[in-house]
Amino acid sequence: MNKKTLTKVSGDAGLDYKIHFPDGTRATIQNILSSIENRRRYLQNFHKASGLTCDCQTPGVPVRVGRRQIPSETYYLYPATHADRLRHKEDCPLRTADHQRPGPHEQGAETLDKTLESEAEESTDLVVHIEASGAYLTKMMEWMWSTSLLNARNPKYAPRDYDAVRKKLLQAAATVRFTNDERLTEKWWMPQRFTKGKKVEINQAARTFAEQVAEQGPDRWGVMIAKVRAARIQKKQATISLAHTMLDLHITIDTATAPKPGDIIIARVCKRAGESGLTALEWAAFPVTEAWIPALSEHERTLLSALEERNASYVKPLPTTWHVNEDIRVPNCILRHHEHSIWMFIDETQDQADQPLKAQRKTWRWNTTQFSTLPELPN
Ligand SMILES: [Zn+2]
Repeated sequence: MNKKTLTKVSGDAGLDYKIHFPDGTRATIQNILSSIENRRRYLQNFHKASGLTCDCQTPGVPVRVGRRQIPSETYYLYPATHADRLRHKEDCPLRTADHQRPGPHEQGAETLDKTLESEAEESTDLVVHIEASGAYLTKMMEWMWSTSLLNARNPKYAPRDYDAVRKKLLQAAATVRFTNDERLTEKWWMPQRFTKGKKVEINQAARTFAEQVAEQGPDRWGVMIAKVRAARIQKKQATISLAHTMLDLHITIDTATAPKPGDIIIARVCKRAGESGLTALEWAAFPVTEAWIPALSEHERTLLSALEERNASYVKPLPTTWHVNEDIRVPNCILRHHEHSIWMFIDETQDQADQPLKAQRKTWRWNTTQFSTLPELPN
């Protein structure tokens, strides 16, 4: 976007109108359209979604999110129908915006369910910088889970099995690259689901990966992701046996909590001479529920598991990829409840419990400093 347009745009009073998003957040048109980053930040998650409105009128006028790839990728807002365009106020920029005919895959009201099912085709790349802290691994995990919509559970669809999750994560890995421009997929290994018939093939894949990362230079590393079967911990060292493979992983536990059976572990690894198994250069782990939804704390796992037992439909927003307007706390879970959604918050500290919630939404809240057991869930 060139400067000239920006100046003209920000001088326009109508840009104070807000877009209301289906998740209850809102942002001014000015803020949304101010940069390519902001367009992506606010609009990417709602590409193809219905339920967005412009509040220049009451009730709001339906709008949609389009994506343009030429000359460069950008997201934009357009009136849901041609007739809707004229319903915007005179000074609303969406009234005068070029009416972009929706492309074939933007047509029609896509439901949230449909979105949940669709592949993560519009994800732009995540570029990660390797740091000794390993924080990039957590970011990468959250990104992969979010872009492949593995952070949402919908009882309408078959339960996720290991194969389905592995396939989705492999697709998501294609959208991650390192600052040296190497793709995660070039460095990646996640064991195939073990079956007796595939034993030879699976063992061979593990050996090939181990050979690729056998330490002979700074580039000899790979990234592995697997489910923890067991952890043998000795002081600050642990040997992790992984599900679906015989290859063990050696990790150092400094400040992080040791991974537990059933956790997902992701690690940048190499194979050291004279050592069996792989050695983690950095690692991160998190628990997942039965439906493979990441839980970021034990309380969260309690809540999400209880929702799953009730066969609920919900989304788990992951902090590094979830964008809401600045002063709204990221909910621990968004429950789809009949026709509405309920934002669920877990207070882990007294400070959090003391903060009023600013979400303009139906909310549910669990103050864990006062109540150790899960409060009653919405009916
Ligand atoms: Zn409007």
